[in-house]
Order: sequence, then structure tokens, then C-alpha cells
Amino acid sequence: MDSLWQAIENGIGAATGRVFRADRRGGLSGGCINQAFAVEGDGRRYFVKLNDAAYASMFEAEAAGLAAIRGTDSVRAPEPVSSGLADGHCWLVTEHIQFSSANSGTSELLGQQLAQMHRCQAPQYGWHRDNTIGATAQHNQWTDNWVGFLREKRLGFQLELAAANHAPVGLLDRGARMLDQLEEFFAGSTPAASLLHGDLWGGNWGADEAAQPVIFDPAVYFGDREADLAMTELFGGFDQRFYAAYNAAWPLDPGYQSRRLLYNLYHVLNHFNLFGGGYAAQAAAMVDRLLADASA
Ligand code: ADP
Repeated sequence: MDSLWQAIENGIGAATGRVFRADRRGGLSGGCINQAFAVEGDGRRYFVKLNDAAYASMFEAEAAGLAAIRGTDSVRAPEPVSSGLADGHCWLVTEHIQFSSANSGTSELLGQQLAQMHRCQAPQYGWHRDNTIGATAQHNQWTDNWVGFLREKRLGFQLELAAANHAPVGLLDRGARMLDQLEEFFAGSTPAASLLHGDLWGGNWGADEAAQPVIFDPAVYFGDREADLAMTELFGGFDQRFYAAYNAAWPLDPGYQSRRLLYNLYHVLNHFNLFGGGYAAQAAAMVDRLLADASA
């Protein structure tokens, strides 16, 4: 482990052009996938994530995602500093954020700034590289066809994984039937390809020391902004001020109500694939509701 921390410190030194030696290192809780630490020395502090060496490209993609969000000059996201491999592990170092209490304006700002981030658009859907959603692969090949992307790269891919993970046959069969009807949810609407956070649940945002919103741990790609909004509603953690500010900055289409379930099915299937358990029943209920909506 010592050689790993040495390599991390060297990585920080090389990236910042100033030798870095940590005199304090503390574990942080709250992550789902990786081990997290804060390291400190010489008045500088960094946030470090560690995992097995096999996850190196996951961290490279996360660093690229943070850089993409920062490039929009909208919501604050930690600056990536260094990533690498040593001693059977890989690491990602970013700027350390001093998470603090939100005030009444924080979620309103998050709504405004997220809409601003979504205004950053690409000519196609996808991204220049694959990344991960949780620890699951997320494929992002550029395409002009949003519904095809959603069918193949998102829902279809998760259903294939679910089959490999022995999901109930009923879920798989009805899921496949639902995929054939995806166009029904997009009658007359072609979403813009907005830069998305991609994994925007309540555990992936906070307030910095100035009570400004910060988003982190992204799974970015260019896609329908409704997918980010849907995920904010899946597990909670966003208040009415957030939604009001988002809608004031860029109103959502009324058809969002029917597509929200579709976008969240992706994450619920992913949770089944990562954690198993009751997520299969939740996904099956969502698929049934979507099949009913599609034929209504
Ligand atoms: P994981 O990829 O394992 O889900 P996260 O990126 O969500 O890990 O980070 C785990 C926890 O560490 C977060 O819940 C948050 O509290 C904290 N954290 C994340 N990024 C930073 C940062 N840049 N500075 C300080 N703490 C952070």
C-alpha cells in the first residue's frame, strides 16, 4: 500500500508541478463503489478514490466527465487532478470539496445551473468514450437516433445483463416487448442532445463551503435532459425549489411525465444488475406500467 500512496503523491506532484507529500490521510464514507479518502499536506488537500486495477478506465472516464461538466461553466464539479495505476490498484485524485450545509438558495441555484449545463449540446447523442454507471459499463457510441440509442445502449444493454444475472423471464419478455414500442413515448418529440450528469441521484450533489451546489461522480453523455431530471425524482434528495428553478430556466415538455418512468427503468435495471434483490420486482412493475402507457 505504501508504494500505492507514494505513486498517488507523485501523480499529484507531477500534475500540479509542485511536490506533494501527505501528512494526513483519512477515509471518507458515502461512496457506493470505491474507497474514498482525503489526503492533506503542506496546506493542500485532495480527494482520492481507490479501486482494483481493473477499474482504471472507469476513473479515466470519470475524470473526463468531470472535465466536461467543468467545461460548461455552469454547476461546480471537482477538478480532476490525476489518475493512475500502482500496486494492483487504480486511483483518481480530484480537488477536495469541503462539503457544508446548503442554505435556502442552494437547490434553487442547482436547478438554474443544471438547466444551463443542459444548454450545452452536441450534434449527436452519445460521447467520445464509454464510461460506467455505478460499476456497470455504459456504452456511448455517437448516434443520430435517440430512440435507437435508448433501446440498444441503455435499456436493451441492461436487459441483456439482467438475463445473464438470471432475472425473472417475465421481466425479460415484457421488457423486450416494451423496447419494440419505445417510439410511442416520443411521438412528435426529438430531444436535444444535452450534456448530462448521467447519475444524478441525491447522493451525488452537495453544497460547498459557500453553500454553492456541487455535482460529482458523473456518468456523462449527451442525451435527453429529461433523463437527468427523472433520476433526481427516483430516490429523492431534490426539493421543490430545485424543480421550480429548473423549469423557470428551461421548462420541461409535458411529455416528460410519460417518459420519466422509461428513463428511471434504466437505473432500476442497473440496480438489479449491481445489487439484485427487490429491484427485479420494481423493474417488472415499471415495465408493466410502460406497456400499459404505450398502448393507451
Ligand atoms: P463512489 O464512486 O464510490 O460512489 P463518490 O464519488 O460518490 O464515490 O464519493 C464518495 C463520497 O465522498 C461522497 O458521498 C462525498 O461525500 C465524498 N466526496 C465525493 N467527491 C468529493 C470531493 N471532491 N471532495 C470531498 N469529498 C468528496
